[in-house]
Amino acid sequence: MQQEDKLKLVISHAKEYGFVFPSSEIYDGLSAAYDYGQLGVELKNNIKNYWWTAMTRMHQNIVGLDSSIFMHPTTWKASGHVDAFNDPLIDNKDSKKRYRADVLLEDYMAKSEAKIQKEIDKAKNKFGEAFNEEQFRATNPNVLRSQAKIDDVQAKMKAALESSDLIALKNLIDECEIACPESGSRNWTEVRQFNLMFKTELGAVSGDAGIIYLRPETAQGIFVNFLNVQKTGRMKLPFGIAQIGKAFRNEIIARQFIFRMREFEQMEMQFFCKPGTEMEWYNYWKNARIAWHNALGMGEENYKFHDHLKLAHYANAACDIEFNFPMGFKELEGIHSRTDFDLSKHEEFSGKKLRYFDPETNESFVPYVVETSIGLDRMFLAVLSNAYRTEMVPGKEGEEGAERTVLSIHPALAPVKVAILPLVKKDGLPEKAKEIVDLLKYDFNLQYDDKDAVGRRYRRQDAIGTPYCITVDNETLEDNTVTIRDRDTMLQERVAIDALHGMIAQKVSLSRLLNQG
Ligand code: ATP
Repeated sequence: MQQEDKLKLVISHAKEYGFVFPSSEIYDGLSAAYDYGQLGVELKNNIKNYWWTAMTRMHQNIVGLDSSIFMHPTTWKASGHVDAFNDPLIDNKDSKKRYRADVLLEDYMAKSEAKIQKEIDKAKNKFGEAFNEEQFRATNPNVLRSQAKIDDVQAKMKAALESSDLIALKNLIDECEIACPESGSRNWTEVRQFNLMFKTELGAVSGDAGIIYLRPETAQGIFVNFLNVQKTGRMKLPFGIAQIGKAFRNEIIARQFIFRMREFEQMEMQFFCKPGTEMEWYNYWKNARIAWHNALGMGEENYKFHDHLKLAHYANAACDIEFNFPMGFKELEGIHSRTDFDLSKHEEFSGKKLRYFDPETNESFVPYVVETSIGLDRMFLAVLSNAYRTEMVPGKEGEEGAERTVLSIHPALAPVKVAILPLVKKDGLPEKAKEIVDLLKYDFNLQYDDKDAVGRRYRRQDAIGTPYCITVDNETLEDNTVTIRDRDTMLQERVAIDALHGMIAQKVSLSRLLNQG
């Protein structure tokens, strides 16, 4: 299956089964905004809970916070977002379409790369076994010419972006003769910086004085509360503050489903430590975070660390954890060593000291910070797309096999943990099944289903990732046993009703997952 096709299947499956709906769909939707449905919200909550517990309860020195979305506007001056949280934009005067200048150039280079690949494929066909790609790349004049152009554009773009030279960016677009994909014309405006923060007005105050922003990241809420938490919680360095919350970015090109939205949720943790120890903690968090991901069993080969070559001005080390999404390897989480940049800036702009007093050395200093920042929606997409598969199920003797769609979500994250299915809707089986519902409903999110043949009910549960189905049959009435079916192996086991609670609790246990991470 083509990777992009898989994304389409995942999107339609997510909609069909109540995981994710386009926002305000009855009004034809709003681009890059999505709503989480009845199963989506459960999955999302389970991911949050896994992260929150791993961060806070598993670390005695990490506490939580829930800061407000609106913050004093000076926060964003201090953090650099007002001046530097920008994308370079260019408009085509004929189509009136707006593009990110760097994305136009990236697309141009990708096209040249595709041309090179075409030459290589042609030669491969021609020379067969004897073909040596390395040698071909090093000698073929067409390939050399295209590669030289790519390298040149890459170098010029990097220099222009680093020095915020918008004229150079525009010149490069002209030099490459890039045309608008919509109108085909090269009638471009100048390149302008576009700030990604959403602005609104506070109360009745209008004009610049009342401008307030929707936060573009949750981290600043943690920084401005650093001393509040440290003092009231009597926290000693090193310690961390974790937060889950909404963030807003006016992304120009928001696409790829919930991967890039204008309103999304982040799970961020800022870890405050002594200057000089930050690299040790940076490495600690790199290991801890990848272990958290790997415990889910989504395939270690599906994760990659990508070290940032060009560091943001405030960082002294940074990397991304990339995941193999249906669109390829893309950023899922960032781990950044942010030095004392944020706290120092807030000291400067607020005039208040944000220092830690070390009782052992009698010194006070601005701590260094290592941040881990993961997009909850991206994690949701990672879990859902990794879990989605279709497969043939062999039929019983003499019967044809059938296709099933199954979401193999880790049982601890699965939105519904158990389905209770009376085999038939008579003979007292529904009543017995409801007794089991009452036994389990306090601790597990479950579904009761008595419609259609049991095989179809299994398929419905497979499609939403329910790890266990309990079937109540006539034997149940005699000996108080039921069958429990495993979603992945489809094997059934007969167990006593009395043993059900303990058995399911063990199978869907979050603590088992946390112990692996
Ligand atoms: P990208 O390069 O993809 O724009 P970023 O480097 O700007 O991401 P960060 O500022 O490091 O992202 O934010 C931390 C995390 O928040 C990212 O790793 C990602 O998981 C998530 N995130 C960022 N922007 C979006 C978005 N528009 N929609 C959904 N999640 C996002």
